Amino acid sequence: MNKYDVLVIGAGPCGISTAISLKKAGKKVAVIEGSTPGGKINIAPRVDNYPGEHEIPGPDLAFKFFERLNNEDVEMIPEFVKSISKEGDNFVLSLDSQDLEAKAVMIATGTQERKMGFANEDKLFGHGLSYCALCDGHFFKGQDIAVIGGGNVALKEAIHLAGLAHHLYVIHRRNEFRGSLKNVEELKAFPNVTILTPYVPVEFLGEEKVTGLKIQNVETKEEKILEIQGLFPLIGQIPNTQFVENLDILDEYKTIPVDKNMMSRLPGIFAGGDVLPRIIRQIYLAEHDGMVAAKGILAYLESK
Ligand SMILES: Cc1cc2nc3c(=O)[nH]c(=O)nc-3n(C[C@H](O)[C@H](O)[C@H](O)COP(=O)(O)OP(=O)(O)OC[C@H]3O[C@@H](n4cnc5c(N)ncnc54)[C@H](O)[C@@H]3O)c2cc1C
Repeated sequence: MNKYDVLVIGAGPCGISTAISLKKAGKKVAVIEGSTPGGKINIAPRVDNYPGEHEIPGPDLAFKFFERLNNEDVEMIPEFVKSISKEGDNFVLSLDSQDLEAKAVMIATGTQERKMGFANEDKLFGHGLSYCALCDGHFFKGQDIAVIGGGNVALKEAIHLAGLAHHLYVIHRRNEFRGSLKNVEELKAFPNVTILTPYVPVEFLGEEKVTGLKIQNVETKEEKILEIQGLFPLIGQIPNTQFVENLDILDEYKTIPVDKNMMSRLPGIFAGGDVLPRIIRQIYLAEHDGMVAAKGILAYLESK
């Protein structure tokens, strides 16, 4: 079994900044990434609120992060981690094809989109239903589609889709949006966008593919059917922490609380970025956590 000082799980901004700092400090470190290096910004049509860039397509920024990792010659292992167990002072990570051992572990696995919970949701996924506008938006060029949600992720995905769709409906359960005023104004400026508030979805319509969305006004209880071919529920995220449920490091929201050194309640297991309990999830926070965690990990290794 290959042994490391530190194994970092997730090659998003948090994992990458942790790994670079540890590598520079001379530690034997590898990053394990089950999907696309660069992390979630790969699916962001546009990144802003990031001081180093004005506005940049998410995949371009993700590639820059990945290049940084390569420039530092950090080992990448392209697999998902399935579980972690504590063996003496160390940790054993089970991947699809191998087990790996480390003295310390950094969990930087981010989040995935929350589902609405309708019975036909899984069946319609990939048949008009998507959780990623950048990945799937082009399939709906010239069609009528709907976005559900009112945060910045939903608004930005809606802005991207408005440029492709024949007509775009944005459904949000409150009259006020959680996302920034700038994004709301930009969305409202599209002539082909109808914003419907305060409405909630009550049914996804369609057997084999999406044919419509039934919505209900939260105040009047009036129902409407929107005839659409594409549907993007963007109602928040759930942390990617299922693989560490056995470690007793999660809170009630399945996020990972940490101390000021980014260490979880299990010594040797650190976490940062979007998997932490927080209201704002942004790249600069993820990078910050990565840097702080690297320092905390070095101190932990020193103390052993
Ligand atoms: C549409 C959209 C727009 C956004 N716009 C902005 C913006 O403008 N500005 C901004 O600052 N932020 C923005 N964000 C948020 C930003 O992308 C996140 O805050 C940031 O990527 C979090 O970094 P992270 O490293 O914590 O996690 P992530 O970037 O999510 O990376 C986690 C990585 O871990 C991998 N992983 C998960 N589980 C496992 C496992 N078991 N084994 C191995 N690998 C695993 C995942 O594949 C992923 O690559 C946006 C997000 C979205 C979706």
